[in-house]
Amino acid sequence: KRTLNKPNRVYKLVLAGDAAVGKSSFLLRLCKNEFHSATSATLGVDFQMKTLIVDGQQMTLQLWDTAGQERFRSIAKSYFRKADGVLLLYDVTFESTFLNVREWIDSIEDSTSHAIPVMLVGNKTDLREKAQRVGQNCVMTSFGEKLAMTYHALFCETSAKDGSNIVEAVLHLAREVRKKA
Ligand code: GDP
Repeated sequence: KRTLNKPNRVYKLVLAGDAAVGKSSFLLRLCKNEFHSATSATLGVDFQMKTLIVDGQQMTLQLWDTAGQERFRSIAKSYFRKADGVLLLYDVTFESTFLNVREWIDSIEDSTSHAIPVMLVGNKTDLREKAQRVGQNCVMTSFGEKLAMTYHALFCETSAKDGSNIVEAVLHLAREVRKKA
């Protein structure tokens, strides 16, 4: 399967993770380079297209934003089934969203017949320092790295607010996805 011969191939990436970790914000930053401090809850699933140059070669991505709410998990599963890769987000200032990563990984594994590349993304790094100062339990970088290693996932930390690492996260996953496709 040589991707060089398939310029029109669209790669499907799915954003997953608990509600309010920043999935919609991540997409908004990636596709429109915007950030809104108040975003409306995603209803069901919606997608955005993004073309990137990955190692000198154009790659068209279809990015699906799934809702994190429990009641939508079954919908998310049907999207994992056809996914080429997953961006699995948690909020570095909200520990429970990190503890739920395992469940998301299980959902992904249950829905796909073969292992697909997963990028574990610790989002909202811009808030961590302040959150720690007021005594909130935050997720340290090393914890994220360790968990990603356990699941053979890629790892990065981002901020949809200041834009750090957003494009890099997608590029890195896209590169892995193309290798495996
Ligand atoms: P979703 O439910 O996972 O799609 O999460 P949203 O994108 O709706 O984000 C939930 C809330 O977190 C919104 O108020 C966003 O503005 C905010 N948010 C998302 N990403 C970041 C971030 O990187 N930094 C900060 N400070 N806020 C963020």
